[in-house]
Amino acid sequence: MREAAVELLVALIQNGCVNDGTPDSGGEYRSVETLQEFFGQPGQVFESHPGRQSVVYRIPGRVSGAPSLMLMGHTDVVPASRHGWDHDPFEGLIDDGFVWGRGAVDMLNVTAAMAAAFRPFLSGEKDPLPGDLIYLAVADEEAGGTYGAKWLVENHWDVVACDYQLTEVAYPPITTPDGLAYPVSVAEKGPYWRKLIARGVPGHGSQPHGRENAVVDLGTAIARLAEAPTPVIITEEWQAIVEILGLGPDMSAALLDPDQLDAAIEAIAAIDPEMARIAHALTHLTVSPNVVHGGVKNNVIAEEGHADVDIRALPGQDETTVDDHFRKVLGSELYDRLQFEPIMDYPAGSSPKEGPLWEAVGDGYEQVAGTRRRFPYLISGTTDARFFRTRGVVAYGAGVFDDRMGTGEFASMFHGHNERVSVDSVGLTTDFLATTVERFGVHSVAE
Ligand SMILES: [Zn+2]
Repeated sequence: MREAAVELLVALIQNGCVNDGTPDSGGEYRSVETLQEFFGQPGQVFESHPGRQSVVYRIPGRVSGAPSLMLMGHTDVVPASRHGWDHDPFEGLIDDGFVWGRGAVDMLNVTAAMAAAFRPFLSGEKDPLPGDLIYLAVADEEAGGTYGAKWLVENHWDVVACDYQLTEVAYPPITTPDGLAYPVSVAEKGPYWRKLIARGVPGHGSQPHGRENAVVDLGTAIARLAEAPTPVIITEEWQAIVEILGLGPDMSAALLDPDQLDAAIEAIAAIDPEMARIAHALTHLTVSPNVVHGGVKNNVIAEEGHADVDIRALPGQDETTVDDHFRKVLGSELYDRLQFEPIMDYPAGSSPKEGPLWEAVGDGYEQVAGTRRRFPYLISGTTDARFFRTRGVVAYGAGVFDDRMGTGEFASMFHGHNERVSVDSVGLTTDFLATTVERFGVHSVAE
């Protein structure tokens, strides 16, 4: 099973299903073909746009009404250029015990491990679970799921319906004073991306006095938004993370107190900037203006400008939080002069940290890593899990990794250079998923 997962991972990397955000990119049909060969069965293929294929395999359960479990991986990857890499990102080279290539951790490693853990159920080598067991490989995760998970949930819910789901993100364990602890991604922040539009009155650039200049308004707004402190929420996930980190009573108390939090994060930043960024993102509404366009010519007062702002809300925050924050930070005069267009609105989502899948994941860790020590993790990014969580599905991301790479280095490889995963980690994740699926079968009818 382990070797099969590694071979499949290499094949998926070599397919190079690069999603650059345009409808004709991706070409995920190639990885659908690879999976059909791997399973020896065609499955049910859905094509939302030429070349953008997703494939579903469903094994009916043996107990009517028992909860179903889905394993969902995406097959697309973000672009990579050869520059900056030690090996070709699409060669699928195995070197020094690592599989190298774009998608090695995001998330072809898990997509492949899931397929290897699922195949014995599909072939009949393992008995069916009480409820349905489903494998879903989706296109287009990297550009918002328009041609993949979002499209399937909106147009073919009958085909992809499930009660529980394993998907992204699988992170390595963290080291704590009491030993290793495994993060289970149970929640993610919600994107509330906004386009800020400023309007001015055109005129000669040699006489700027008293003019309404769109670029000046936009610059003022961006500077205020970038500098202002943002609303804080201490979520139950953050409490669990702080508890498991074992940082001592003073630091722990400061990280859980909204009044001391920002000072505590600054203290962390002096030692470990990466950790400070994570702590900040997991406790705050974040606001990051990342694109600016404005004006047409050096000697013309700017008539129009816009800025795209990446905003992420915690569970418990929503578009009202965003709007109130903007009004407060910009001041009502500037706020009223600007327009705010939503680019993407999606609420933060959170799944319960208890129940049959939570227990099954614990059994998986116990079997493969020798400990049940796991904690609910909140991710700052966005995954396809959100389309399922809003339909009431309990969705987690989990895996097992060896100690050849720490959390910081691991996280930096998502969409970065030299993306790679150790061969052993792929094997461990495969074994972990196989145990978790079997144990879900036991827990799902026992509770
Ligand atoms: Zn991903």
